[in-house]
Amino acid sequence: MRHVFDKVSLKGRKTVKCGGVGGGCGRRLTRSREFWQTVNPMNRDGSGLPKTRETIRAEIQAERDAWAKQEEYCGTCDAKPPWDEHSTRQGAR
Ligand SMILES: [Zn+2]
Repeated sequence: MRHVFDKVSLKGRKTVKCGGVGGGCGRRLTRSREFWQTVNPMNRDGSGLPKTRETIRAEIQAERDAWAKQEEYCGTCDAKPPWDEHSTRQGAR
């Protein structure tokens, strides 16, 4: 039988202005994303201890906050220079 690990998740949603090249077109973009981790013996924190639900919750909240501050671009403005660190955007069109 397969053990199903306890999943801690958090949904994020944001509305930001398009921040493409040259400041973007200013179009409002809505993005949503789910942040999650599972509570399991292999998911350990910096000190080597398995993460608790509380640890995980704090981490995914921090992740969500960082994501919320990240710029997004519409499909038209798209490309920022490749040396810009924003290549993590999702394939949303
Ligand atoms: Zn745009």
